[in-house]
Amino acid sequence: MPEPRVPARAAEDGPWHAEAVCRRDEAGLFFAPSKEPTAARLSREEAAKRVCARCPVMVACREHALLQPEPYGVWGGLTAAERRVVLARMRRRSAELRQAPGAGSIAAAG
Ligand code: SF4
Repeated sequence: MPEPRVPARAAEDGPWHAEAVCRRDEAGLFFAPSKEPTAARLSREEAAKRVCARCPVMVACREHALLQPEPYGVWGGLTAAERRVVLARMRRRSAELRQAPGAGSIAAAG
């Protein structure tokens, strides 16, 4: 299994990174150590989400993690598994919109 990336929010210098609450917290809270037991993972993720809940850049962080997409860790209050669900829903919704009656008629008319 590949090593999790270093959290961008700690390493990059972007418009929202400077405001990230997690810059002052342990990175270990947001990324799983190898072979972490399920109960420990759930507890750690909930603790990370509590940090995210009081973070002023949660929306920007979440958008970043979905756009990349970031494969590991808690970003913007979402775990990697939760982000996969959100992305799958977004892809499904996008496909539905493309197949909807009248889709593309604006482009064809324009
Ligand atoms: S939302 Fe969470 S992961 Fe994102 S910058 Fe804030 S504390 Fe860090």
